[in-house]
Amino acid sequence: MAEIIVKGGFVIDPTRKIDGDVGDIAIKDGKIVDKVSSSAKVIDAKGKVVMAGGVDIHAHVAGPKVNVGRLFRPEDKLLSGFCRSTMAQKNGYRMESGFSIPSTFKTGYDYARMGYGFVMEAAMPPIHSPHVHEEIHDTPIIDEAALPVFGNNWFVMDYLKKGEVENTASYIAWLLKATKGYGVKVVNPGGTAAWGWGLNCVSLDDPVPYFEVTPREIIKGLLEANEYLGLPHSMHMHQNDLGNPGNYKGTIESLKISEGVKPKNKFGREQVMHSTHLQFHSYGGTGWGDFESKAKEVMDYVNKNKALTVDTGNVTFDETTTMTADGPFEHHLQGLNHLKWCNVDVEMETAAGVVPYVYDPNIKVCDIQWAIGLELALYAKDMNRIFITTDHPNAGPFTRYPRVMKWLMSKKSREAVIDSFKHKDKVIAATTLHQIDRELTLFEIAQMTRSGPAKSLGLGNIYGGLAPGMSADVSVFNLNYKNMPSDPDMIEKAFQRAACFIKSGEVVVMDGEVVSNGHKKTVWVNVNMPENPQVMRDITQSFTKDYTVQLENYPVKDYLAPHPFVINVDVEA
Ligand SMILES: [Zn+2]
Ligand SMILES: [Zn+2]
Repeated sequence: MAEIIVKGGFVIDPTRKIDGDVGDIAIKDGKIVDKVSSSAKVIDAKGKVVMAGGVDIHAHVAGPKVNVGRLFRPEDKLLSGFCRSTMAQKNGYRMESGFSIPSTFKTGYDYARMGYGFVMEAAMPPIHSPHVHEEIHDTPIIDEAALPVFGNNWFVMDYLKKGEVENTASYIAWLLKATKGYGVKVVNPGGTAAWGWGLNCVSLDDPVPYFEVTPREIIKGLLEANEYLGLPHSMHMHQNDLGNPGNYKGTIESLKISEGVKPKNKFGREQVMHSTHLQFHSYGGTGWGDFESKAKEVMDYVNKNKALTVDTGNVTFDETTTMTADGPFEHHLQGLNHLKWCNVDVEMETAAGVVPYVYDPNIKVCDIQWAIGLELALYAKDMNRIFITTDHPNAGPFTRYPRVMKWLMSKKSREAVIDSFKHKDKVIAATTLHQIDRELTLFEIAQMTRSGPAKSLGLGNIYGGLAPGMSADVSVFNLNYKNMPSDPDMIEKAFQRAACFIKSGEVVVMDGEVVSNGHKKTVWVNVNMPENPQVMRDITQSFTKDYTVQLENYPVKDYLAPHPFVINVDVEA
């Protein structure tokens, strides 16, 4: 079948410690192989950089809150997107619309143009999982998975109040199967449930009303349940008290809950907790007046604790849309900027809010947030444990990843931004970015965007590298490893439009343009374990008593996820 050889590029593959060696990548039947026949199609990568396909560990790209954003922000589409020609549409390519919340088609095409092959939808409300899968199905080219949210789920809070980790684990296994979900996501544990009554849990020891369980107990219990099951990914956490000055102490305190929990899985994952969009959780000061960066303090802790992986959540200075399962935070944000606000509370499970936000470089707070996101990466010691994200679209759209890479790779480009600030001196005083000379290498960028996130997700032998046997996701960029451009903008440009991107063995992008819709997959986790009679009784009872849908109509039907890639996990009794 189809054979391709990517010839003569500077190969960068952290999974095999290859840093810029000139070599060929051979592809056959969707996989990377040792060699191919002489009839293989040749892609000339001479003078260019060759990496594995990008892996995005955290983005909001599909489902109800993303679609609320698309619906209630028609203005987001007015100045962006384009209608493809009639000819292109005849060939099966679709219209692309939206800037901060792109349509499903634009989402797939834009990731592919940047050489990304796998994207994790970061927050799936379980009862709305059919919606998530319908949008994933519509998104071309990229492989996707979705994380159902557990941190405010009534079953979970009931079990963990009683310290029942095994029952929690059985419930997680059942829910992953029902939703075709990938792992355990936690958003503002306890706080979003409290928001059902207009309240919040700000500290780790604030009990949830009526449930009398604390965020600390929820985090600890879910960490243990995750390892009891041996899931490919760790518990994936958005912490309490997001976005408030002084929150860094609570951040470190909740990261510490991971101490003493051991990773147990057969997928090569070494962490027990992934802490997402850490930028929003690294704030010092007591109010917006004395607001300052605590990135150094937070990273000092992360550097020491191997049980953690993190992602940055970099601010990109755009007009964007915030959307999160942190209901009380979104209400608080609307109180600050008075822009439109949407809230949805989801029965028994979670809630969400959506508010537009403008990260304006003339505002000191936004500038400090921008600096914090970059400081986190520049203070990191192990680049396989920290990943580039923008919590798309919360801190900015994912299409800005190339810009973030430029900032991390070039002090000159960072200084140009700092020089443009209206409150330059105040920003310099409240952050340390100006004093940091470090510039990340292409190898480190590949760790942060490829090998690291793939390993953290437990997908390290499929994605994120170029070893024989792995999925043939190969990106080629117009960058000369031996002669990097002196103009940092050329780095951004090169990462924005891949010279070539091969997804699962098929050329899908050439010279920055989409040339094929590819054949995407949806990845989920299926836990095989003996049925737990108590948990099944609890679920049946609750669907009779509390849910507005019937139990048999709850699970995602197979036809909604027609391109499955199922990862099986076996748990013994
Ligand atoms: Zn979040
Ligand atoms: Zn998020």
